[in-house]
Amino acid sequence: MKARISVPTGAVVYDLPLRHRFRGLDRRQGMVWETPAGWTEWSPFPEYGPAEAAVWLRAAAELAERGWPAPVRTVVPVNVTIPAVGPDVACRLAAESGCRTAKVKVAERGQSLGDDLARVEAVRAALGPAGRLRVDANGAWDVDTAERALRALNRFDLEYAEQPCATVPELAELRRRVARHGILIAADESIRRSGDPEKVVAAAAADIAILKVQPLGGIWRCLELAERLGLPVVVSSALESSIGLAAGLALAAALPELPYACGLNTARLLAADVGEPLVATGGALPARPGWQAASAREGAASTSQNGVLTAAPYVPDPARLASVQAAPALAKAWRQRLAQAQFELFRDS
Ligand SMILES: [Mg+2]
Repeated sequence: MKARISVPTGAVVYDLPLRHRFRGLDRRQGMVWETPAGWTEWSPFPEYGPAEAAVWLRAAAELAERGWPAPVRTVVPVNVTIPAVGPDVACRLAAESGCRTAKVKVAERGQSLGDDLARVEAVRAALGPAGRLRVDANGAWDVDTAERALRALNRFDLEYAEQPCATVPELAELRRRVARHGILIAADESIRRSGDPEKVVAAAAADIAILKVQPLGGIWRCLELAERLGLPVVVSSALESSIGLAAGLALAAALPELPYACGLNTARLLAADVGEPLVATGGALPARPGWQAASAREGAASTSQNGVLTAAPYVPDPARLASVQAAPALAKAWRQRLAQAQFELFRDS
């Protein structure tokens, strides 16, 4: 039977400023609402059409429909994410984060390999030799450029390179070329936007899979995908508010193995949030961020019926949520977008 995913009329459209320009954005927008199981988020990037936005909506609906999996760890190690800023800012962001792993954006439009080298060098200096340093090119390089850039950047000892090229065949070719230099390849966009994540494995195109809850349709789908792929997994955010980040944390906390720091410390990139930002201390985030607030409110720990501890959603702060509410025209546009995504899901179901 077809069923629409209903979103309460009280859903809030947020409009958050970023501290630094990130993936071409200066602001991040999305919708959040409270379900009987807690707060959830729907925030597809602005350029995504209804079909892709519908996948993100499926993820937003899962908390109320199915709940979250039980965590198998209490803390999640995370990386600091360094935007395509100058070396001085990059060094400061890495140092003040307290993280022992950094992900540095490279291959930004309008910048050169020299800019990337300067930024990565500065972050390596901030982390020290024991820190882990990965780069993310968001698919911007062709294979030859990627090979040249990664060999140059690897003098700063890369943990891995995330989506250096756009397509799966390019990643596979590049991976073959750089393997002898000990450079690992992680697939991000090729996992979440190609329509067929298993192509990455079939083509031997990556050593590591980046999983993101909203783009892949929810925590449970990510857990199933991780099992099918059989690759080490890094959970990353889609630059959500702290409500969306909590879902990423629930996934990271539930994965049987978590060999790498996760990209979930991105609340640092936002200049405002829907409540107290979920920001790491000592390079880790608590696996169940909403638990303290929820248990304080309800006077009891959140446990499921059989007494097993459950992952808990994030609880926003009403005053902060009100302060980041979008202007009426933007809110209207988001409600129209939501209606299109709902229709898309209804048509496909
Ligand atoms: Mg990425």
